[in-house]
Amino acid sequence: MAISVWEQSTYFGPKDVVIIGCGFVGLWTAYELINKNPKLQITILERGVIPAGASTRNAGFSCFGSVSELMYDVQLMGVSNMLETVKMRYDGLQRIQKVFDNKTIEYDQFGGYELFEEGGAYDIKKLDADIAYLNKILAPALGTPKKNGKYLPIYTNESKQIQKLGFQKINALAYSPFEGQLNSAKLVLALQKEVQTKGVQILFNTEVKKFKSHKKGVTIKTNLEASIETKQLLICTNGFAKKLLPELDVVPARGQVFITAPIPNLKFKGTFHFDEGFYYFRNVGNRLLLGGARNKDFKNEKTTSLETSKLIQKTLEAFMMKRILPKGAKKPKIELRWSGTMGMGKIKKPIIQELQPNVFCAVRMSGMGVAIAPIVAQKAVQLMKH
Ligand SMILES: Cc1cc2nc3c(=O)[nH]c(=O)nc-3n(C[C@H](O)[C@H](O)[C@H](O)COP(=O)(O)OP(=O)(O)OC[C@H]3O[C@@H](n4cnc5c(N)ncnc54)[C@H](O)[C@@H]3O)c2cc1C
Repeated sequence: MAISVWEQSTYFGPKDVVIIGCGFVGLWTAYELINKNPKLQITILERGVIPAGASTRNAGFSCFGSVSELMYDVQLMGVSNMLETVKMRYDGLQRIQKVFDNKTIEYDQFGGYELFEEGGAYDIKKLDADIAYLNKILAPALGTPKKNGKYLPIYTNESKQIQKLGFQKINALAYSPFEGQLNSAKLVLALQKEVQTKGVQILFNTEVKKFKSHKKGVTIKTNLEASIETKQLLICTNGFAKKLLPELDVVPARGQVFITAPIPNLKFKGTFHFDEGFYYFRNVGNRLLLGGARNKDFKNEKTTSLETSKLIQKTLEAFMMKRILPKGAKKPKIELRWSGTMGMGKIKKPIIQELQPNVFCAVRMSGMGVAIAPIVAQKAVQLMKH
């Protein structure tokens, strides 16, 4: 499409900041920037008709972190890195609730659970000791609420509830009141509305093909005929980061999900994790949303394709029937199946950097972007001029 002279000076005219990617990170950064300086000319470029990464396609957990996941993170990247990422999640979840009311984003704080089986990857015998250890180090690091001068526990052993919840072959259960659930697309839409009202422009169907940093800023080439000049560029393309930034340690990781038809007398409410977070499920009203099993086929799930695969979907269905629903339960109809693209790397920490003069990135959300995006955005903004 050839552009007109009017379009050249408006939609595609020079900007102060261009953000690539209209997911949580791009939107939260636009939100922070425009609130700091309402005069900034900010444009978000998004290749999809709607955001086409993970932000509207996840499971809608406002996830805080489960016991086995955090203990694994300690081994993977040390205590201080683990504490830093949990603090980002905790502060991020607080920020979401401060900016948006629960009704707008369908936020419910039903709490989060982790399910364990005997003989699984996690040794259940360690559970009480790990809970005590995490409660001791997390509460002061996060500044969680206190009662009568003592921190409220972050995790408790709730194994006594297993029968009531109807799970099969589950031998232990840990609970945290800090986890919640929300409607991710409603949060994206609320952020869009918030920034657009303040003058941020969002161009959908606009894919950035390349960019070049120069003395005065950055020139951006897109799939449209127009190129755009900006003083600063921020790349928030998470799982797709390697396409524009091949030097970064970010690999795509597909997350597959399904949701069932309503299940009469669904026995639980909340968010649930199993197998170090590789399986996750929650209620959506009285429907079951289940996702994960990426560890069944790591190689083929390192993809940005938004298809679903038979292997993973069948594995999830078997998990639903053999673990989640009570023995003998009728198999519910699966109403929707979908997938989204996450960005992972060797360690579970975001990359927030100035890569070249006036070119910044905030990528590699490591499957935690719902929670950490508001804080990632604040850190990105600290690096930028505004
Ligand atoms: C199934 C699933 C379950 C998840 N569960 C959780 C969870 O429980 N808790 C949690 O915190 N997080 C979870 N996540 C992860 C979370 O959704 C992501 O971390 C978060 O959405 C990442 O946001 P983002 O803005 O960094 O990336 P994205 O939402 O992926 O946004 C990047 C955007 O960039 C666009 N883009 C890419 N390349 C270009 C280009 N060249 N030009 C223009 N636009 C481009 C893409 O279309 C995309 O819209 C889950 C993700 C999935 C898929």
